[in-house]
Amino acid sequence: MSERRRFLLTEDQIPTTWFNVKPHLDVPPPAPLHPGTGQPIGPDDLAPLFPMGLILQEVTQEPTVDIPGDVLDVYKIWRPTPLVRAINLEKALDTPARIYYKYEGTSPVGSHKPNTAVPQAYYNKLEGRLRLTTETGAGQWGSSLAMACAHFGQTCDVWMVKVSYHQKPGRRVLMNSFGASVRPSPSDETEAGRKVLAMDPDSPGSLGIAISEAVEAAAKDPGASYSLGSVLDHVILHQTVVGQELEQQLAMAGVEPDILIGCVGGGSNFAGFAFPFIPLKKKSRPDLRLVAVEPAACPSITKGAYAYDFGDLVGLTPLLKMHTLGSQYVPPPVHAGGLRYHAMAPLVSAAVAEGLVEAQAYHQTEVFEAAMLFTKTEGILPAPESSHAVKGAVVEALRAKEEGRSKTIIFNLSGHGYFDTSSYEAYLSGKLEDYAYPEAEIAAAMAQLPQV
Ligand SMILES: *Cc1c(COP(=O)(O)O)cnc(C)c1O
Repeated sequence: MSERRRFLLTEDQIPTTWFNVKPHLDVPPPAPLHPGTGQPIGPDDLAPLFPMGLILQEVTQEPTVDIPGDVLDVYKIWRPTPLVRAINLEKALDTPARIYYKYEGTSPVGSHKPNTAVPQAYYNKLEGRLRLTTETGAGQWGSSLAMACAHFGQTCDVWMVKVSYHQKPGRRVLMNSFGASVRPSPSDETEAGRKVLAMDPDSPGSLGIAISEAVEAAAKDPGASYSLGSVLDHVILHQTVVGQELEQQLAMAGVEPDILIGCVGGGSNFAGFAFPFIPLKKKSRPDLRLVAVEPAACPSITKGAYAYDFGDLVGLTPLLKMHTLGSQYVPPPVHAGGLRYHAMAPLVSAAVAEGLVEAQAYHQTEVFEAAMLFTKTEGILPAPESSHAVKGAVVEALRAKEEGRSKTIIFNLSGHGYFDTSSYEAYLSGKLEDYAYPEAEIAAAMAQLPQV
């Protein structure tokens, strides 16, 4: 008998609450600090940038938060997403491991990011904030927020990291199609951008710079909010629809997970996928491994410090305690643009510090090699970001083979790569290079960590 391949839920099985990991952590992340005074900040300090609905979610200690009906209605456009057994990949690796992937690439823009873009636009709309500013790396987040703003009738202004703006014109056009305005960052529209351009006119940009620009633009406009696609607690909260669906699908498949793997840029897809399993890990499955995979060129967990740092380059954001390479660090232009962030979500960092989450780092050519194997066997071209999770799954499946043990490996395929073909072209024509671990640059950025 052939093995079952796809595990599908129905619309009425979309979770109706988001899962809050905070009550499950022994040491939740300490309070954010004001960038000027260094004192803990309260909800009012964040009000110029975010609507109160999201600020309250940022600080809540409640174990669950209800998902509004209007948000569920939009989720239904693409949720629930499938869980798929990667049988052909298993065969190609000749592994006793069973490999499954949760596929978030079925959303309208091809990634997990609309899971938070939709509620963020919604809560802003409720409070009359009709303009949203944001940054985007590869364009996944920008297109997600552009889609959500189009749905709720809001204006969307996007600062796109310059290297990606040129590498990935397709995403820019998609954002424009939703009605958003997009400019390359650093731009001359903000003080932050002008400052960077004055120092380095050829700056490839980074998420840290683009965040400074989008935050500045929102802070100067009372009708605007800033919107962040990762890192913050409310973003991770929204992404937990992924892991909660997965719990139901695993029950349906009758399997117990041994290893859950996700790629990490700011940490939101990994956390949304893996955090709902933390109660299980703590209660009865201490051997369950939650593995975060990052690029070797931007190794915030594996090489960073766990310290208070700014979320952006210029130092406009609150100070957050997180694994960081230093906010002055501008990662090399690896093709997984969505993973080029100097730090890690405070909640993921706290889970690492508590020993609940482990991390691995890989170079981009080995990551693309794993992606090509996945494409040939399973038929989907993964996003370069998601390919880090594919690589992590391949490594674990080969280890299981070496050890002669069957393991159940599940990874989050956070998005497809059909807008990233220029990256694959570079790989296929042998032009993709690995960046040596940028030791000197990171040491210089770490030396400038704020003294708290
Ligand atoms: C943005 C993005 C990521 C990285 O962001 P996280 O917050 O770490 O999830 C990963 N995969 C895809 C497809 C993305 O678009």
